[in-house]
Amino acid sequence: MAQISVDIERGPDEPEPQKAGRHPNTCPVCHSHYREDELAAALRVCRQCGHHFPVGARERIAQLSDEGSFVEVAAELRSADPLAFVDLRPYTERLAEAELATGIGDAILVGTATIGGRSVALAVMDFQFLAGSMGSVVGEKFAMAADLAVAHGVPFVSVAASGGARMQENILALMQMAKTVMAVEAVREARLPYISICAHPTTGGVIASFAALGDLVLAEPGALMSFAGPRVVQQTTGETLPKDFGLAESQLRLGHIDAVVPRGELTPTLARLLALFTPAPEEPEGDEPAPEEPGAGAFGWLRRLLGRSGG
Ligand SMILES: [Zn+2]
Repeated sequence: MAQISVDIERGPDEPEPQKAGRHPNTCPVCHSHYREDELAAALRVCRQCGHHFPVGARERIAQLSDEGSFVEVAAELRSADPLAFVDLRPYTERLAEAELATGIGDAILVGTATIGGRSVALAVMDFQFLAGSMGSVVGEKFAMAADLAVAHGVPFVSVAASGGARMQENILALMQMAKTVMAVEAVREARLPYISICAHPTTGGVIASFAALGDLVLAEPGALMSFAGPRVVQQTTGETLPKDFGLAESQLRLGHIDAVVPRGELTPTLARLLALFTPAPEEPEGDEPAPEEPGAGAFGWLRRLLGRSGG
């Protein structure tokens, strides 16, 4: 039977072979090991080799937004189990276990926050929750975040980390692709910027819907961003793939994304982009900062981009 896979090649419960037995704070590339507080302080980036470890949604929001500014909405939403789906275990059991492990109700957190003093609507995915899969709650919360952006007239920022559509919800999960695309379209119609950040991995139905649709699409170094994983593509096509197939760096080279931004530069980059796109927040009188030159220094890529679009 022909099948189109929108999931990464392994199930959420099946460990990657090279990961088996490895402590989550041990770098899979250079094997440096970190204490939890060290790794958190380093934004979960390996100080030796630059490997980007996964970041949960709450921690990501703390990294990106101004302290204490995040106001969560729709925290109470939980997935139903309309298909009474059972694979090896009931879907309801997997949901409960994921919530216990992550402390969040589904694979995305949404709300409002400020970044560099500017208000945004924020949607941040958590890969640890059922491989960041997109079911009806993820789609609904993403759409609510887009609605918040439109209602408040503020930019919309999302961080994706997803294995794709949530197979336990079948067609209802696939429908979220259309739903999230419509939500992005509503933001566009309101002439508000949408910035999409892709963390490792952003695959399947998520890269095939909202994550690829940012006015600006940024990615973390080494993030896999492809519809199907390299192994599936290799098996399907019989072709030998380049080593960096589907990675952020090759997506940048091919013009699919605008920049690869190391995690340590993500917050200042976002703040800078938001400053370019939105009016300045009200400053206390007599304390007006000097306007900065757009495109200076590390933002050369943005200058090139603006030059390309004639902006
Ligand atoms: Zn390392």
